[in-house]
Amino acid sequence: MASGNTVLMRLVASAYSIAQKAGMIVRRVIAEGDLGIVEKTCATDLQTKADRLAQMSICSSLARKFPKLTIIGEEDLPSEEVDQELIEDSQWEEILKQPCPSQYSAIQEEDLVVWVDPLDGTKEYTEGLLDNVTVLIGIAYEGKAIAGVINQPYYNYENNEKQQLREHRNEAKAGPDAVLGRTIWGVLGLGAFGFQLKEVPAGKHIITTTRSHSNKLVTDCVTAMNPDAVLQVGGAGNKIIQLIEGKASAYVFASPGCKKWDTCAPEVILHAVGGKLTDIHGNVLQYHKDV
Ligand code: AMP
Ligand code: MG
Ligand code: MG
Repeated sequence: MASGNTVLMRLVASAYSIAQKAGMIVRRVIAEGDLGIVEKTCATDLQTKADRLAQMSICSSLARKFPKLTIIGEEDLPSEEVDQELIEDSQWEEILKQPCPSQYSAIQEEDLVVWVDPLDGTKEYTEGLLDNVTVLIGIAYEGKAIAGVINQPYYNYENNEKQQLREHRNEAKAGPDAVLGRTIWGVLGLGAFGFQLKEVPAGKHIITTTRSHSNKLVTDCVTAMNPDAVLQVGGAGNKIIQLIEGKASAYVFASPGCKKWDTCAPEVILHAVGGKLTDIHGNVLQYHKDV
């Protein structure tokens, strides 16, 4: 392992702080009350003011510090001067104290591709299922996802559905002292941090899948696996978090729809703890800038 001051570790440390800032923007837009919803391709493919502002914040903040990176964001936005207030300049010092895996120590800025989903789970965001939402910053090298940051702006938030379910099961609530939001990060060869790794209860096969982008193939595939339970929730980031925290054994989505910005950061976190993410044929995904 090399020291933590390599390009990769500096980028991850910055991406951590930048994802936190984006999470604050996501909360602020809800607090201000005007979501500015736009339909992209259809009624389940939406963009809000939070998607737009968070992407501007993330991409501009990264580009200022790392001008030679290739940065690919989900949203198509006009190129305009970004408000200084949206720029995050800091980096999470704890990450710089970690060693860089030696196979990545010589990486240069221009070798990296960053896949940005400024708000994953937009449909659920517009419906108030706020804990489904994540901010995703994935980092790829030679076509492989190698590092990632996931901010969950509403971690510890209790939406009504979830609160009722907890009350029904007599489980403890998050409580008034719980801190809202968290950031999970990982680098292949180093590990994944910011959460407690848990397995699903022994012998249980629980599938997590889409809530708002289902079709017959998706439901047929899930049914064919004969699960003990099926969770239908929003967000690719959120579903990977369910896997690492032992709420689900597999994430099944046999359909086009997920893009590289949806899977790059979550894939790293999953792979860093021994999981596996593939396409429907079992092939690993490619993250070159022009795939
Ligand atoms: P979901 O599990 O439905 O929350 O989807 C995970 C991610 O993939 C989200 O960012 C969705 O926007 C995206 N996605 C999945 N299916 C589709 C689709 N049919 N059209 C547009 N986006 C999709
Ligand atoms: Mg997404
Ligand atoms: Mg998105």
